[in-house]
Amino acid sequence: MNWNSSKGWLSKLALDQDCILCKQVSQELLCPVCSNDIEPFNLHQYDFNLLNHIRIARELKTAEFERLIAIGDYQWPISQLISDLKFAHKAYNGKALAELFCANSLPDEAIPQAIIPIPLHLNRLVERQFNQTVVIAKHIAKRLDIDCLADALTRRKKTQAQTQLNATQRIRNVKNAFELKSKIVYRHVALFDDVITTGATLSAAVDCLSGAYPTMRIDAWAMCVTPQNR
Ligand SMILES: [Zn+2]
Repeated sequence: MNWNSSKGWLSKLALDQDCILCKQVSQELLCPVCSNDIEPFNLHQYDFNLLNHIRIARELKTAEFERLIAIGDYQWPISQLISDLKFAHKAYNGKALAELFCANSLPDEAIPQAIIPIPLHLNRLVERQFNQTVVIAKHIAKRLDIDCLADALTRRKKTQAQTQLNATQRIRNVKNAFELKSKIVYRHVALFDDVITTGATLSAAVDCLSGAYPTMRIDAWAMCVTPQNR
């Protein structure tokens, strides 16, 4: 991962403030101590597809997609950036996370024409007033100069929180959860979620899209992967 370009961008965003995580004095949004704590996957080693990573492929064996890109495991400091964005609405974290994602220098063939963030059910969106996945996806789209189709999918089923369920229950919980809301004119898209655990949610969204567009290439993107067997 090219951290130098990431750090350069982060420094341009600095608001004469301290590190957004540890509050130490820093010229950058993430200070060197916090950014050095990130243990990114070496995507190049896996041919820009984490399903070539043995542990991840085993954990996502029921996934209905063929290509996955994520930054790293769900651990400090990425976990904190996501949590603060989600629950404390710290908007700058969305930009920082998007930049960390884009620091991967993806090859041209891996870059889709559009990114589609996984939507929340309307009731949950009203409750929370914020979908952190959309916020990050919009920043990624801007950085990669691609479209962000935040309204392409809708979540018609109010699902239980996946964190309380096992792998089989997760698949059942999100089956038919999504509905296509608008026409998609692209041949290659990436569905984006902030965190991927079993892949059940992303798989349900892939199912929905591929049902309508059988020849469309649909990649799965996430900020991070939660290892299940820890
Ligand atoms: Zn820091």
